[in-house]
Amino acid sequence: MKKLFILTLLLTVLFSCQNSPTTDSGKPKIVCTTGMLADAVVNIVGEEAEVVGLMGPGVDPHLYKATQGDLKELSSADVIIYNGLHLEGKMGEIFEKLAERKKILVAADALPTSKLIKSADFQGAYDPHLWFDVALWSKVVEHLGIELSQLEILDKGSILQNTASYSAQLQELDQWVSMEIAKIDSSKRVLITAHDAFGYFGRAYNIEVKGLQGISTMSEYGLKDVSDLVNFIVDRKIQAVFVESSVSDRSLKAVVEGCIKNGHEISIGGTLYSDAMGQEESEEGKYLGMVRYNVNTIVEALR
Ligand SMILES: [Zn+2]
Repeated sequence: MKKLFILTLLLTVLFSCQNSPTTDSGKPKIVCTTGMLADAVVNIVGEEAEVVGLMGPGVDPHLYKATQGDLKELSSADVIIYNGLHLEGKMGEIFEKLAERKKILVAADALPTSKLIKSADFQGAYDPHLWFDVALWSKVVEHLGIELSQLEILDKGSILQNTASYSAQLQELDQWVSMEIAKIDSSKRVLITAHDAFGYFGRAYNIEVKGLQGISTMSEYGLKDVSDLVNFIVDRKIQAVFVESSVSDRSLKAVVEGCIKNGHEISIGGTLYSDAMGQEESEEGKYLGMVRYNVNTIVEALR
C-alpha cells in the first residue's frame, strides 16, 4: 500500500513538473542523497551549479524515505547522484523510475568490486560505507569529477581543476588519518560502534572494527549480540565504545551496562559522524572536518 502511495506521488510530481531548467539562478541543479556526496560535489562544481543534499545531519540513510519535497527536488534536477550499494535502501524504486529520464550518477560505480568489502550479513551485497577510506573516497570524487566534466551544462576546465585540487586535499587527509590512528597502541586499536559503518576505515587504517548491528541499521540485533560484544570487550579490556550521530545510542548503552555488570569499566568515547555529517555551519558539517573530528575523538578515547 505504502509503495503504491510513493509511486503515485512520484508519478504526480514527475508529470506536474516539466523537465525545465532548474534554479532561480539559472544554474544547473545537482541533487545528492547524503551530505558526504553533496559536500564532494560542491567541491567539484564550485560556483558552476546549485547543489542540493537531501539527507541532513543526524539522518540515517538506510532507513530514509523520500519526502514529497525530495521528489520535487529530484524531478527538477539536472543530475542526481546517490551512493549506491543499497545505502539508500528505501529509495531504490524511485531511482529506477527517475533513471528513465534523468542523468543519474552512482558513487559506487567509481570502484571495481575488488576494492569493495563483501557483506557478512547479505549474500552478494557489499558494504556501502565507502567514504571512510579517504583514499577510496578520493577515487569516487575523481570519478564524479570526470563524469560531471563531460556534461555540456558545466564548464569542463573548471570542473577538472576543482576535482584535482579537492582530490589532493583528500590524499593529504588520508595520510594524516594513517598517522593519527597509528598513535594508538596496537593492542588497544579496536573501534566499537552501534552499526558496522567503519569497515573501510578499519581496513584502510589498520584498526579492528566491530558493530553491534550489521552494515545496515535495518538489521535487528538481539540479546545474544549484546552479550557477545560485552564478552569481547571484557576479554580484550577495551576502554571505550562510540555512539553514532545518526543511530540511537540505546543499543550501546546496553553494552556499557553489561560491561559494568561484569566488573569492567568502560566509557562512551564520544559521538562519531558515521552515515551523516555534523551541522551545516560547523567544521564537522564538511567531509574533511567530519573525518578529522572522528579521528581525533577515536585517538583521544583509545590511546
Ligand atoms: Zn550505515
